[in-house]
Amino acid sequence: MHWPESPALMAPLGDWFESHRRELPWRALELDGIHPDPYAVLVSELMLQQTQVATVIPYFKRWMERFPDASSLSDASDDEIHKFWEGLGYYRRARHLRASAQHIANHGWPTDIKGLIQLPGLGPYTAAAVASIAFQRPEPALDGNAFRVLARLLGIEGDPRLHAEPLRSWLRPALEKQGASRMTQGLMELGAMICTPDPKCGKCPLSVQCEARIMNATDRIPPIIQRIKPKESEIWLVAVEADGHWLLLEPAQKGLLAGLWKWPSVEAARLVGENLAAESGDTYTSHDLRSWPGWTQVYTHRREVVSPLHLRLEQRFEAPGGCRWIAAEDMARLALGKRDQRLRDLSKETGMAPLNDPPVASLLALIKHGANPVL
Ligand code: SF4
Repeated sequence: MHWPESPALMAPLGDWFESHRRELPWRALELDGIHPDPYAVLVSELMLQQTQVATVIPYFKRWMERFPDASSLSDASDDEIHKFWEGLGYYRRARHLRASAQHIANHGWPTDIKGLIQLPGLGPYTAAAVASIAFQRPEPALDGNAFRVLARLLGIEGDPRLHAEPLRSWLRPALEKQGASRMTQGLMELGAMICTPDPKCGKCPLSVQCEARIMNATDRIPPIIQRIKPKESEIWLVAVEADGHWLLLEPAQKGLLAGLWKWPSVEAARLVGENLAAESGDTYTSHDLRSWPGWTQVYTHRREVVSPLHLRLEQRFEAPGGCRWIAAEDMARLALGKRDQRLRDLSKETGMAPLNDPPVASLLALIKHGANPVL
């Protein structure tokens, strides 16, 4: 690849960032030294994985008030960190953050990329972002936004991620010369605010030399990579209520939603054609079954069409293995994932009109037989 040298090509970015940057609570005013609070950079980068800046800001502020440094976070319980992360999704990030904090509290900060990448939850991008923003190391951090900017600037045809290593080598001298923190954040900011999928080239500090703009090819560089269509399933998410208690699944130790409580759920397809009521011998004559408005829950690789149900029984039955009856007044204290929080909010009100379908006995038989979430 014959790309013009990065220090000259990227030079206008530093000044542009100084004068156009957004003030974000984790950003240092001073761009040339070591960041005064590397922990704030680490927290922000973990939170920003998969989540928009505007969503992260209030979470970041709350988190920093409760866990202002690595040692205060290292002693926190699962329940507490999940509670402070509740609504951000991808809860593994919170546990990774605590594990990193424990390492830092015990051994001090690793300040180079080799040490940072050993911290839990830090892949090459996040480790490079922390190394450059917090410690001024010339480590290019390439995420989707950065790849888009560089692909356009250099006129790279095809998937720019295939050129990740040459791009890092190319960019490094610009970070060395103009400042790692300034250039890394400048590239992030340009990708977020100006060189967006529909770019605002008229406002771009790099427009004079941008190959894609010169070739009038910003609509095809970089190409849109087709994603695999996510799998879709339909579920009943069931809030079973009896004697002022709700039936919930206890948190799993591992997996995507480890540490979070869940409502029982049943795949709608499992109720079709099954007569588990007769099989289980259960009859629930005294019940009230209603629905709430449903929604579609989108995960990275699948979508769930959620039909929330409110099933009120006269009395509790023995909680099945892995489940527990939770007193209504304790519900607010539990850490739940986004989908399950939504049902907790709904559960403060009675559902809509009474239902006859799905059959209550079959539904309960499936719950008792371990019809638990797919996650
Ligand atoms: S000129 Fe346009 S396409 Fe090129 S880097 Fe700037 S915003 Fe992106």
